[in-house]
Amino acid sequence: DQKSKSHYVSSSDIKKMLRRREKYSHKGTFGRALLIGGSYGKIGAIVLSSRACLRSGAGLLITHVPQCGYEVLQTAVPECMVTTDASFEYISELPTIQNYQAIGIGPGLGVQEMSLKALRELLKDVKNPMVIDADAINLIAQNDDLIDLLPANTILTPHPKEFERLAGPWENDLERLDLQREFSKKHEVLIVLKGAHTSVSTPEGRVYFNSTGNPGMATAGSGDVLTGILTGLLSRGYSARKAAILGVYMHGLAGDLAAEKLGEESLIASDIIDYLPHAFTSVS
Ligand code: AMP
Ligand code: MG
Repeated sequence: DQKSKSHYVSSSDIKKMLRRREKYSHKGTFGRALLIGGSYGKIGAIVLSSRACLRSGAGLLITHVPQCGYEVLQTAVPECMVTTDASFEYISELPTIQNYQAIGIGPGLGVQEMSLKALRELLKDVKNPMVIDADAINLIAQNDDLIDLLPANTILTPHPKEFERLAGPWENDLERLDLQREFSKKHEVLIVLKGAHTSVSTPEGRVYFNSTGNPGMATAGSGDVLTGILTGLLSRGYSARKAAILGVYMHGLAGDLAAEKLGEESLIASDIIDYLPHAFTSVS
């Protein structure tokens, strides 16, 4: 019974999922994505997410950062439009959130009280599935009222430590898998539990195991890249389930292609972004 609900994602599954860009399309066709995050000293995280989002097919990207991130973003990611917060160091408020196909929040955010307020406001207003990562997960773990505000089919991307904060401890892999599955069902969210074999659980209780990726990806910023990819795919029009499965696969594949050329030891998160185009072209 447990087994029938588990799937190992293959390259042919991915091929079937991938969409083409239609000839008579324009940037509006591929959606507007909004990324929110970064704080003083952690602007790099949201730079990585922003670059990865644009490399994953989003039509337009707006990134909302504290004021200290403005010039960094505009310089590092010229394709991205930037809105700035009232606060210099942290996120404390939100831009208008209407008209976005997808919103991702968390990379580099920090867990300040003012950022908690902004997150709570956001969750009260958002209707579409979002991507929730890093400190946005930690804030949800610390504040019981937030989890029930998440729009159905929102994608949370915890690493094991973040998942433990969210769902509590486990004794072994099987128990962890049950916990993940139950959490997804109970809260109607997708959990992307990151690691060597990232697993994606759905509100229906299915679990998809990823087959790409390598230990070279155990490096700072890897997860921030995944957040950008997932937000890009959501804005591009993929369902939350497909975005999660496809995004995790492409992230790992880009990491594998990067490692083939550069080796695992020296691999850094930016390399994963640089190899995303190769990942997309190699399966399509
Ligand atoms: P984070 O901890 O948020 O930076 O996320 C780390 C990212 O790197 C996740 O997408 C993991 O799946 C990936 N990753 C970390 N370690 C490994 C590993 N040993 N093999 C494959 N992927 C990994
Ligand atoms: Mg992370």
